[in-house]
Amino acid sequence: MTTRMSQQLILIARPVGLPEASDFELREQAIDDPGEGEVVVENHYISLDPAMRGWMRDVKSYIPPVALGEVMRAGAVGRVVASRSPKLAEGDYVTGWLGVQSIARVPAKDLRKVDPTLAPLPAYLGALGMPGLTAYFGLLEVGALAEGDTVLVSGAAGAVGSMVGQIAKLRGAQVVGIAGGADKCKHLVDELGFHAAIDYRRGELRERIREACPARVNVFFDNVGGETLDAALAHLAMHARVVICGAISQYNEVQPKGPANYLALLVYRARMEGFVVFDYAPRYREALEQIGGWLASGQLHYRETVVQGLENFCDAFARLFSGDKLGKLVLAV
Ligand code: NAP
Repeated sequence: MTTRMSQQLILIARPVGLPEASDFELREQAIDDPGEGEVVVENHYISLDPAMRGWMRDVKSYIPPVALGEVMRAGAVGRVVASRSPKLAEGDYVTGWLGVQSIARVPAKDLRKVDPTLAPLPAYLGALGMPGLTAYFGLLEVGALAEGDTVLVSGAAGAVGSMVGQIAKLRGAQVVGIAGGADKCKHLVDELGFHAAIDYRRGELRERIREACPARVNVFFDNVGGETLDAALAHLAMHARVVICGAISQYNEVQPKGPANYLALLVYRARMEGFVVFDYAPRYREALEQIGGWLASGQLHYRETVVQGLENFCDAFARLFSGDKLGKLVLAV
């Protein structure tokens, strides 16, 4: 029998506002050999997602909250170091809900095998992971994108937003991104091929959207909520689709604010719809083949920001809210 020591990040308090180090405890836990149907995985990269802030709350959402005393839930990618499942062998690389920990013991059936020769491992947490899938289904299914549409996306330089803009352009849309800071806006236009980018930190967002979207907005893909959502609602085209993917500006608020400008939906006969990417699980393969093809042909680009060490979880997680990162944020173990 081999006992491995895992470094685990345990949620010990419900954060109020931005999560702090005192809300977590880093502990060492012995992990035994896998049982029947299980594998032991050494995590290499852990995904840092805005949704994790929601899972820290004591509120039943689309999945249950993380209980106090539990390992913080997170997607991760790593290598199988012991297996008692015919599905996976030692040395295989896998992704799934492996948690904020260095070593995890999980059922093999809950993991997806990945190929590190096709893409670097962190890409399976970004373009080829949940953010890429979210962009794909949110834009094409919920947003019902049509060729020639004007697509406006908030959080545009992030993991989901950067994919939304590029996929929209590949499908023949006019694409405008909203992001924080001149460098991110330059990146969107020069490197990702967006037609225009708006730096929301410069203010006058409504005016900037009006200038950048003269034909108004057919699809607004919203990752931010709050004032950004209100500003975009003021510029909808007839029969527009507003995709509620997330509302990161509200995640640390005790009293999140909804849109004030919702009557724009009436005026423009528009539709506003939320979605959860997990509902599309039966179609993940289709989306991953399409995204993988775009990556292989060089039509889709992505960036990552990698922070080292589980002990830096809180500082790294805060960068989702300060915006001090580009593309997908991951923690290297
Ligand atoms: P991300 O965009 O990579 O990171 C978050 C970004 O949000 C930051 O880089 C920051 O960029 C921006 N931001 C933070 N606070 C802001 C504020 N107050 N106002 C404006 N912008 C702010 O994160 P992601 O993983 O791609 O997720 C994006 C959104 O998708 C999140 O809302 C997330 O919850 C949602 N999501 C939903 C689903 C689903 O199934 N519905 C699945 C995955 C993700 P700037 O520098 O531009 O401010």
